[in-house]
Amino acid sequence: MKNPYVRFSPEEEEEIDLIYSRLADMQDGTVFPTIPQVAELCYRISKSKGFWEEEKAARNKAEMIALMHSELSEALETLRDDPHEVSQKASGCTVLEEEMADVIIRVLDFCHGFNLNLTKAIVRKMEYNFSRPYKYGKRF
Ligand SMILES: [Mg+2]
Repeated sequence: MKNPYVRFSPEEEEEIDLIYSRLADMQDGTVFPTIPQVAELCYRISKSKGFWEEEKAARNKAEMIALMHSELSEALETLRDDPHEVSQKASGCTVLEEEMADVIIRVLDFCHGFNLNLTKAIVRKMEYNFSRPYKYGKRF
């Protein structure tokens, strides 16, 4: 829901409408977005919240990766506390699902922002993994 107390430029309003529209399309189950489409939306949302205000080259990639780690740590803490806890931020989801979503959102935002072809990399890495031996030759 839009905040009625915040004024946006026409361009910002257009962007916000586009984001709400795409989210609605995904939520009603009529649209099955591709990874790049979800990545673009993650990027648009984080950009709309000010996370891409500086030049891309100035963004601290290490910090962004550390924040991906932090979401995994939040997922771990959820497992330690209550793996069935209901999320207060993602309706109909557990906190574990919410935290795993946070990981993916940060990864997709990063990849879209830095023009990384995540879809190709996932497919290529799955091909490689499928060619590997049982448990990749490790004990676990
Ligand atoms: Mg989180």
